[in-house]
Amino acid sequence: MSLIHSLRLNTKLLLLLVVIGVGLLLVGIVGYSNISAMKRNLDNLYFGSFTPVNELSELLHTYNRGVESTVFKLADGTLAPFEASAQLSESLDRARRLWNSYRSHYQSDAEKEYVAYAGATMERANRHIARIIDVCHQGINVRRVSAASTSRLIDDVSEVISRLLQYEKDVAGFERRKLLSTYDGTLVQLLIIFGSVTGAVLWLAYTVFSSIRRQQKALEDTTKSLKAANSKLESASYTDSLTGLYNRRYFNMVYDRELKRAKRSGNYLTFMMLDVDDFKKFNDTYGHIEGDKALKAVADALKEALKRPGDYLFRLGGEEFGVLITEGDPKNAKTMAQRICSSVEALQIPHEQSRAGAVLTVSIGATSLIPSLSLDENMMLSMADANLYEAKEAGRNGYIFSTETLTRSHLYSRAGAA
Ligand code: GH3
Ligand code: MG
Ligand code: MG
Repeated sequence: MSLIHSLRLNTKLLLLLVVIGVGLLLVGIVGYSNISAMKRNLDNLYFGSFTPVNELSELLHTYNRGVESTVFKLADGTLAPFEASAQLSESLDRARRLWNSYRSHYQSDAEKEYVAYAGATMERANRHIARIIDVCHQGINVRRVSAASTSRLIDDVSEVISRLLQYEKDVAGFERRKLLSTYDGTLVQLLIIFGSVTGAVLWLAYTVFSSIRRQQKALEDTTKSLKAANSKLESASYTDSLTGLYNRRYFNMVYDRELKRAKRSGNYLTFMMLDVDDFKKFNDTYGHIEGDKALKAVADALKEALKRPGDYLFRLGGEEFGVLITEGDPKNAKTMAQRICSSVEALQIPHEQSRAGAVLTVSIGATSLIPSLSLDENMMLSMADANLYEAKEAGRNGYIFSTETLTRSHLYSRAGAA
């Protein structure tokens, strides 16, 4: 069983075909040889027994009815000599023909001896009949014909023919029993072979198919775990390990895709570039580890602030974050920028050295527009970058926002003052 499981699919199917083929061949060979044996039996039965039995029966009838009764009628004068001679000639011819035909069949050595003896007995009777025919032809002394001596001779003939007949009947019975037992044997043999082959084929088919199913299941499981591993790998390659936000690589992909989508649909696309204020000083003051913690806290605050399905958050590098909003209009975008500044400030992470206040803050350069088909793909990024620069220049912890007209609306506002 395990051997079959270890075979390859093609080999398994080939094995199944071979078993079916060998089984059919076996059934064919056994069927053919048995049918040939039955044919021989039938031949023996028909030509070796039935025909001889018929011939001998007819022969017996010819002597008993044809010859004996004719001679009796001739002797008592109820039959004219010419009629008797015609009838006797006919019977004699038939008797000789039947006997010759009977002798032409196969005979065993033991049989031959008795057949020769019977032939001699019959020949004596035939000579006697021929003499009667002569007497009838001569038409004289017909009364000399002795019915009694004819009767004795016919009795002798009847006895030998009867014995031969009995012998032939016995042989026929034997052949018949042989035929029937060959027939029964054939049926049993074919049934056994057919049953065994069918059983073997069914078992093998079950084994092969269950092994195929097992392999298929294993393949499906492998595919599933591969898919899971792939998607893990994929998400790992798109995720920033410190903050859990999407990384720059994923941003490039999403930005490209969403810009094209907005170009097609004519919807607003908003991009914000965030930068932590005076973060170098933060690191210098509190150490790099605290810096990392602060970046994580800022990322969590951004996640809280941006939860809609069309909002994407990225860590673009260092202490810079990106926000892509695929739905909504400029008004909403401004509110969103304001909310981000406030929620970072609300973390209340102490930052003594910051030029924007006593706590950690971010500055945002934002832009929102309906991209025309010809819009350069870097335009939005440059605008956001320029706005961020301005926000920094304007004192940090605030945002600068511009719309599609490229005329920046100087909506700069300090989070506290908004
Ligand atoms: P500004 O307000 O003008 O942005 O001043 P800044 O000091 O933030 O600007 P700058 O770009 O000069 O400094 C960025 C600093 O961010 C430098 C580096 O020490 C720090 N930084 C970048 N990536 C990481 C990080 O993964 N972890 C930590 N702790 N600090 C980082
Ligand atoms: Mg920076
Ligand atoms: Mg900075």
